[in-house]
Amino acid sequence: MVDVPALLARVPRDLQVGGEWRPAADGRTLEVTNPATGQTLARVADAGPVDGDAALAAAAAAQESWAATAPRARSEILRSAYELLIERTEDLATLMTLEMGKPLVQARGEVAYAAEFFRWFAEESVRIRGSFTVAPAGGSRLLTMRQPVGPCLLITPWNFPLAMGTRKLGPALAAGCTTVVKPAAETPLTMHALVGLLEEVGVPGGVVNLVTTSRAGEVMEPLIRDPRARKLTFTGSTAVGRTLVEQSARQLLRVSMELGGNAPFVVFDDADLDVAVESCLAAKMRNIGEACTAANRIYAHSSVAAPFAQRLAQRMRALRVGDGLDEGVEVGPLITAAAADRVRGLITSALSGGARLLCGDEPVPEVGHFVAPTVLVDVPRDAALVREEIFGPVAAIQSFDDEDEVIGLANATEHGLASYVCTRDLARALRVAERLDHGMVGVNTGVVSDPAAPFGGVKASGFGREGGAEGIEEYVETKYVAIPS
Ligand code: NAP
Repeated sequence: MVDVPALLARVPRDLQVGGEWRPAADGRTLEVTNPATGQTLARVADAGPVDGDAALAAAAAAQESWAATAPRARSEILRSAYELLIERTEDLATLMTLEMGKPLVQARGEVAYAAEFFRWFAEESVRIRGSFTVAPAGGSRLLTMRQPVGPCLLITPWNFPLAMGTRKLGPALAAGCTTVVKPAAETPLTMHALVGLLEEVGVPGGVVNLVTTSRAGEVMEPLIRDPRARKLTFTGSTAVGRTLVEQSARQLLRVSMELGGNAPFVVFDDADLDVAVESCLAAKMRNIGEACTAANRIYAHSSVAAPFAQRLAQRMRALRVGDGLDEGVEVGPLITAAAADRVRGLITSALSGGARLLCGDEPVPEVGHFVAPTVLVDVPRDAALVREEIFGPVAAIQSFDDEDEVIGLANATEHGLASYVCTRDLARALRVAERLDHGMVGVNTGVVSDPAAPFGGVKASGFGREGGAEGIEEYVETKYVAIPS
């Protein structure tokens, strides 16, 4: 068990700019609270526009030397960061549980997942290839080289405070880009710890600059419009993503957008119901339902809908709800009181529209932003929780009768991030995967995330891929050199 006061005392609280920890220029700080208890955990520096400008200036100043650092040297720094992250698993997991609420066991899982992005991109760093070919007409040689795009702005959400950071920092650093990182205001401590760790393993000053702020728009918009920035990578809501794309149009900034989802989870009549229930539980309840990949609309074939829903409800009802720091807890609090109220409102509205409650009325702790794991069946097709990202522990089940119908339903959303299919028929799995308008498809599994795979969406879920061989592409430019012979 980690000594929490000692852990909090070890975490840096200031901004990191050009290799120095410093308070906000105007001395402001922002409060970080524990969603399970409402207690204040810490106050961290609350950057203003002047600090943001200094951070981008530091990133721009460090760009040339970081790009010129040998790929092997960048790779070894990332490899050391991977190792130190793993060594610090308990500290980092505890920090995430404290500020975000996820159960400790899942926070440990996030550390492993987050660390893997550093290992993966340490390996990619030395394999950024160009090409050399003879022009088809002969007479000249065509050389291409891959170069770092330049200083990057990284904006991350609160739901995966560590992994959303490493998924961007890993490829950016591997490619030779410097960065300004802005984590969510609710969960800055994890990023402070991560940036401190990167300093320890030898990331030079100015390569990773950290601005924590309660004034996201005020601080980031001038940076997005600033020509010293060459790339913006954002993970967060579709609404904010749209605004940032508009802002980035001014200087035609390169942009990657990992936005919201509304994942369909389809259970066909030939599915192994044990696999379907466990996969659905994983896809729904990972991170208390606060995941962009969360199963949001569950479609079960009418011949299996009743037993599937009953079994899922049995599993959901048995989950232990409480403070994520207590070992054995499986469902923590939602991030804020407003988030919990919103999820309760979605349940109430679905019930008044004709949905039935299979579970969800069990008591939850009174202090903290808890919502009981809930299963609803006969959810109307137009219910708000079908149209919107639920972002909470609520499984909304509908039934369907044939394949074409369910593909139509699954694609009837502006989003297109994760999707899931349960069937024993491989041909059907492939056929349906091809027709799903989503960036990722899980077949008989509730987990699609893997640092070695390209994570990302289509339509209003954004563009760009993180992880896999594709991940580094987001951070390099291709330069072509013509060489007459
Ligand atoms: P959010 O409100 O969009 O915030 C995300 C980040 O953007 C935070 O750091 C936030 O800072 C910042 N931000 C907000 N307004 C901004 C502005 N005007 N200019 C610059 N930055 C701004 O999203 P969230 O509620 O934290 O995260 C949940 C959303 O993220 C969900 O929709 C989820 O699906 C999505 N998500 C997507 C993926 C993916 O890979 N596709 C992964 C995880 C989460 P503040 O905290 O200070 O507001």
